[in-house]
Amino acid sequence: MNLHEYQGKELLSSFGVRIQRGIVAQNAKEAVAAAKKLTEETGTGWHVIKAQVHAGGRGKGGGVKLAKSLEEVETITGQIIGMDLVTPQTSAEGKRVHQVLVTEDVYYPGETETSEFYVSVLLNRGTGRNMIMYSTEGGMDIETVAEETPHLIFTEEVDPATGLLPFQARRVAFNLGLSGLAFKEMTKFVTALYTAYVKSDSSLFEINPVLKTSDNKIMAVDAKVSIDDNALFRHKDLAALRDLREESAIEVEAGELGLNYVDLEGNVGCMVNGAGLAMATMDLIKQAGGEPANFLDVGGTADAARVEAAFRIILKDPEVKAILINIFGGIVRCDRVAQGIVDAYKNMGDAIKVPIIVRLQGTNADIAKKLIDSSGLDVQSAVQFQEAADKVQAVLN
Ligand code: GDP
Ligand code: MN
Repeated sequence: MNLHEYQGKELLSSFGVRIQRGIVAQNAKEAVAAAKKLTEETGTGWHVIKAQVHAGGRGKGGGVKLAKSLEEVETITGQIIGMDLVTPQTSAEGKRVHQVLVTEDVYYPGETETSEFYVSVLLNRGTGRNMIMYSTEGGMDIETVAEETPHLIFTEEVDPATGLLPFQARRVAFNLGLSGLAFKEMTKFVTALYTAYVKSDSSLFEINPVLKTSDNKIMAVDAKVSIDDNALFRHKDLAALRDLREESAIEVEAGELGLNYVDLEGNVGCMVNGAGLAMATMDLIKQAGGEPANFLDVGGTADAARVEAAFRIILKDPEVKAILINIFGGIVRCDRVAQGIVDAYKNMGDAIKVPIIVRLQGTNADIAKKLIDSSGLDVQSAVQFQEAADKVQAVLN
């Protein structure tokens, strides 16, 4: 589950990570009040207005703007709230902005320069250990840094038995070229950041940029925080931060029905039991010249009720031109699934207007095929993988 920047920053701050101060606002009036409050608390004269959507690259899309007066806070907030923000990480339609974060301006001029760094915490799946990945090239797209100047990206792997050790935090500060107060601040920053990551059961922290202010403080200016969904049951406070407006409506509904569904761009809907088979089925569709419209794992009990729920979810996508059902009958017998498909189809009356290809393999596959073939419905059955692929290709052409 992804958090908004303002939520991520609050989480970091609660673990002692220094952050750029800010207050979330739902409209221009609230933004002006927030700006006044920040001026009282921090003395800042300028403010930054930041769109709160689950996507990076907001600055490039016009979703992060500097306001040099309260009038500008008001007009900029008015422009940003309600806009469909398009960034390199959103679709072409963009993401609707419902709220902004009003922050203090922390790039104020001083005797020494500010610098921007990149710091993330994530799991290295290769070694099974958490690592801190960091770079002197903050504020930039880290993928670009990785491509053009990979030697400017460093990693620090953490032994789960000991946690992050003090010398490791110092090495981070050293590699970032810091000294004096900024060095001390950075060791404190990464230590607190790592603790926050572990204690919140997060799967990704990406802080870009981490700022060294002109008075040598180190703080998070941005925060991308993803919490591990599997750990949300023990973080009720974090689970409550979920913003359903940021998620695909179909995916939310599928989740409520207990279906594992991911909306994709293609035209062939798929209904599969088991995530591995679902992936293989998507490959099969591609090889047959189609594009999968979704990933859908109906789970172990593919009975009529679940099959019907899955049909309804798949058919909400107007792009779907055919549906491929690929079920392996291991624990669940194929004939029961076939009966489920026939019942669901009949229940739905005229709702199904696209051809359906069913491949059932495993226990009682032959009985299942007879059931489908004699149902009188517009459903084609296949036993072999290739046969199913050929039939998908035939209905698409
Ligand atoms: P992103 O574009 O979605 O990654 O959003 P960020 O939170 O990283 O903000 C984009 C950029 O806005 C940053 O890289 C900074 O250069 C700039 N920015 C953020 N906070 C301030 C600030 O307090 N003052 C000024 N002048 N610029 C800021
Ligand atoms: Mn950023």
